[in-house]
Amino acid sequence: MCGIIGYTGGKQASPILIKGLERLEYRGYDSSGIAVLDGTNIGIIKTRGKVEALKKKTDGGNKPHGTVGIGHTRWATHGVPSDVNSHPHLSQDGRFAVVHNGIIENYAEIKSDLESKGVVFASDTDSEVIAQLAAYLYNGNMTDTVRAVCERLVGSYAVGIISTEAPDTVYAMRKDNPLVIGLGKNENFIASDIAAALEHTHEFVQLGDGEFARLTSHTATFFDRDGNRIEKTPYSIDWDISRAEKAGYPHFMLKEIYEQPRAITDTVRPRIKGNEIVLDKIVLDAHNVNSIDKIDIIGCGSAYHAGIVGKSFIEKYCRIRVNCVLASEYIYSDPITDNRTLTIIISQSGETADTLAALKLAKKSGSHTVAVVNVLESAIAREADDVLYTHAGPEIAVATTKGYTTQVAALYLIGLKMARIKHNISEDRYKSLLRKITELPEKVQHILDDTSKIKTFAEKYSSHKCVFFIGRGTDYAASLEGALKLKEISYIHAEAYAAGELKHGTISLIEKGTITIAIVTQSALQQKMLSNIKAVQSRYGSVLAIATPKTSDVGEFCDGMFVMPECDDDLSPVLTAVALQLFAYYVAADRGCDIDKPRNLAKSVTVE
Ligand code: GLU
Repeated sequence: MCGIIGYTGGKQASPILIKGLERLEYRGYDSSGIAVLDGTNIGIIKTRGKVEALKKKTDGGNKPHGTVGIGHTRWATHGVPSDVNSHPHLSQDGRFAVVHNGIIENYAEIKSDLESKGVVFASDTDSEVIAQLAAYLYNGNMTDTVRAVCERLVGSYAVGIISTEAPDTVYAMRKDNPLVIGLGKNENFIASDIAAALEHTHEFVQLGDGEFARLTSHTATFFDRDGNRIEKTPYSIDWDISRAEKAGYPHFMLKEIYEQPRAITDTVRPRIKGNEIVLDKIVLDAHNVNSIDKIDIIGCGSAYHAGIVGKSFIEKYCRIRVNCVLASEYIYSDPITDNRTLTIIISQSGETADTLAALKLAKKSGSHTVAVVNVLESAIAREADDVLYTHAGPEIAVATTKGYTTQVAALYLIGLKMARIKHNISEDRYKSLLRKITELPEKVQHILDDTSKIKTFAEKYSSHKCVFFIGRGTDYAASLEGALKLKEISYIHAEAYAAGELKHGTISLIEKGTITIAIVTQSALQQKMLSNIKAVQSRYGSVLAIATPKTSDVGEFCDGMFVMPECDDDLSPVLTAVALQLFAYYVAADRGCDIDKPRNLAKSVTVE
């Protein structure tokens, strides 16, 4: 999820690797390190903290010596940020060094298998298994070994490997995580981001999913997942560095919107083992689930909106009362909480001051607390009794996108697991929901593959002064997030209403020139929504619908409609969120707003 750079050529590798890591710093990370081969040995220097600290440890890039190496900035997912958990990881025998971005889902299984054969692990990371596995599987042929390693790994990865067995070579492999090969003159590179290698070359090759590469200073050889040689066509990049940091996207927000299929996959997939949901170390068994009589979900902003989606899902399937509360309100509300309340605390950064204060109060009241957090070892993650990390990867844009959808996905997993324990869901429905949750990334990708319609709507309405978002049930929860996204980045006044509430006041604001976005994904509520849509149109307001194929009949009564892929009614908020993120993004882009850093807002709100 964070950064990789690798080098093979005629120059000293260390300064090139350090410089490459500096180029990757914008992504946010918690530690960094490099491994360099001097022909016989691999030297590793790594540290928790900034690349600046690494640079000092390497004497300003003067060591380790050697012309082949790999470097990494880490965004911890498994194992706390520490010197020993930093990458590169070395195999026990010192022959293989590895850097890895992503998550190895079956690392525990590989680790115990290798441990039973006497391999001793140094770190708590999932990534170390790659180095140890390579050493264990090595059969005298490096290319074969790399292919065999790929075959064993389940999960998402971009990996760089160096070995004393092939002292002039860097190997690279990837699946569901970006990695490019940079082709230079008498030197070659691997990089998770073009930005890391751009000052050395403008010629790149995209490594495909499941493919791997062998690079020496003069050669670049590519293989498919079965180890057959393949030809790859290089392309030229003439981006400047700021464009390269954004992987060609004009804004981090758009890049992060497009990262959602991967982010949701990384949040969901490692937690599904066959038909079981395994929520890391959180113990949710019959005893403790049956002793819960109330759940409080606490968050601020989008995290609160994720909580509202979670509330309907959990109440529906677990039949436990759920309160979704704003953290800033919770702390001054004298909450009725005791050891029969489960408190779920949501925060992307894990540092949100209001949310942290709420967490402390809930704990003090005797409640068991579970944090849904993106940043490993953040204050909230440390303070809570249990943590479920969202694995969205670093989020740079102030307005959250992948942070939000991964929170919703995490809440689905918690809700579904508890529902099964409480026997409130049939086995068939449980299995079908579980499967449909794993299919969400594909459906999100489908929306991302063609955004032209959303863009056209956005450009048509970008000069409007006021936008209403309406929906019922879980579509109302999705409206809240859609309205917030639009407000945050476009500065248009946007309000979300439960559609049935319109007639109790807000309808007086509807007139020619107001636009209402009607979210209609709940088949059972489609007719009710239709009445609300007609009420808006009778007051000369324009209506845009967000629907699914099942509810697309409403289009007939609207001024425009975006139809999302077919989706289970209970899971549609994830897709709606993506469609409305794109809408907000294109509106803001058309208005020329500072999308990644909207005025008056901060990414991590550490004041009350
Ligand atoms: N899962 C790995 C770790 O926690 C890699 C994290 C990353 O992508 O930086 O060490």
